[in-house]
Amino acid sequence: MRRNFTGIESGPKMSDAEKSSPVVDASEPSWIRDPSVANVQLNAGATEEMEMIIAAICQGEEIYCENCGQKFAFWPPVLWADHSIVAHSDVQTILARTNLSPLCAEELNQAKQLYFSAAFGVRATMRRRAWQLGYAVVKPGNISIVQ
Ligand SMILES: [Zn+2]
Repeated sequence: MRRNFTGIESGPKMSDAEKSSPVVDASEPSWIRDPSVANVQLNAGATEEMEMIIAAICQGEEIYCENCGQKFAFWPPVLWADHSIVAHSDVQTILARTNLSPLCAEELNQAKQLYFSAAFGVRATMRRRAWQLGYAVVKPGNISIVQ
């Protein structure tokens, strides 16, 4: 297992139980719990590959409806977003519905990428899974603007 701070890092193989409920590993890199210590990127050669990587990182993640509490798989977001639009239109602004709509798309559009990225920045479980599966490309530094 590589322990250097630059380049692709990969952790030990996980059992199915660990994939859905990762156990904290004292030897895991600090960027998993502290996004301020490094930039973490996911690189893929094609959109199909990125979709596969994102699905693997989101395995076991959940999201709850803010209106009724119903539980959904975090990825793909279509079931949760469609539920929100259909079941709770009475409490949503037009803007909210407009923002949820592209999350129902099948293709990996910008809205779905942002939905994933926002969660990846705050869910250590997803960051740990990316590390354990060897998908994280870690670069020193803490602030970057991608153009
Ligand atoms: Zn609901």
